[in-house]
Amino acid sequence: MRYRNIPKLGIKVSAFGLGCMRFPMKTTEDGKTEVDYPLAESIIHRAVDGGVNYLDTAFVYSNGQNEDVVGRALQGGYREKVYLATKLPTWQCEKTQDMYDLFEKQLKALRTDHIDFYLIHSLSADKWDKMKEIGVREFLDELKAKKLIRYACFSFHDSYEAFEHILNDYDWDMCQIQFNILDVNNQAGLKGLKLAGSKNIPVVIMEGLLGGKLASVPDTVQAVYDSYPEKRSAAEWAFRWLCNFDEVATVLSGVTDINMTEDNLRIFDRVYAGCMSDEELQIIDKAREEYQKRLKIGCTGCRYCMPCPQGVDIPGIFSIWNDSYKFNRPEEGKHRYASLSEANRASMCVGCGACQSVCPQNLSIPEKLREAETELS
Ligand code: SF4
Ligand code: SF4
Repeated sequence: MRYRNIPKLGIKVSAFGLGCMRFPMKTTEDGKTEVDYPLAESIIHRAVDGGVNYLDTAFVYSNGQNEDVVGRALQGGYREKVYLATKLPTWQCEKTQDMYDLFEKQLKALRTDHIDFYLIHSLSADKWDKMKEIGVREFLDELKAKKLIRYACFSFHDSYEAFEHILNDYDWDMCQIQFNILDVNNQAGLKGLKLAGSKNIPVVIMEGLLGGKLASVPDTVQAVYDSYPEKRSAAEWAFRWLCNFDEVATVLSGVTDINMTEDNLRIFDRVYAGCMSDEELQIIDKAREEYQKRLKIGCTGCRYCMPCPQGVDIPGIFSIWNDSYKFNRPEEGKHRYASLSEANRASMCVGCGACQSVCPQNLSIPEKLREAETELS
């Protein structure tokens, strides 16, 4: 495992940050959906044994079960080996006390006496204003002074301008942004990464594979990658490109199984700042061009929009729609859509807009669902 220096904090973190958001789920005998704990535990233990020292979870992941799973799996000596990152759900904070109550629950679920990296989750300009009103800066100052958290941080989904404003509005120890080969000029983007670097604020990368979409590539993108003499997976190209940036502290990868964990351990063992040649960077430019021709909608599958009150399977529908374009298989897309329960199809959408207001990608969800319905049904 390669480690990356964070001079501001005087620590080293693994290039591979274990994203716990996409742990496998299973349905129990009584019909409940829950994290498959033995699998999640084996992923965490293998990653940490393989050198990963940064774990990322959040209050809301896995329908609220994720912190408990992570906390349980870190018992028996693993907690002491990692920097633990979790997030305060801004959309559940209406008043000052809510922040304290949520934090208390998080410590309990994680079975720890402190959080290393505590992030204000999914900030936008509006959410930052609201959080400031209820005293989030004083809250973070207090938790740091009491050593209940080590570092005050935020994760971000909004425009570059909002990012610049938030970054300058508090003494942050770290920020987490969406960044990948396709999002160079989207959200905080490359400009945001460089801005944080200029202020010596470490940057954690999320959505490095855009919810897995950059790992399973269209044939035209694969042809670009295959034109390079050394054969690498699309995931390795995407991670390699991210780690090439000096400003990047760690790259989160939301693993779903043990094979992906092993793959990542191998990939992140050979990537470092400045590892890419000009020729390799040109390969990425060409892959980006090909990719952009094929993607139908920029849904990352984060599921922040779920559950829809009408039962619409929003990320599931967008995934089918994207795949049918990405692999140029419209009939397969129609077949997959037809196999969705009628209760979960786009036609159930009543346009209430609840999903759109929480979508970090600012997607026009009801409108796009109508388009998807027309093409796939
Ligand atoms: S706009 Fe449609 S998809 Fe979104 S929450 Fe409302 S009913 Fe569900
Ligand atoms: S529609 Fe938006 S909120 Fe819903 S899964 Fe996709 S990116 Fe996430």
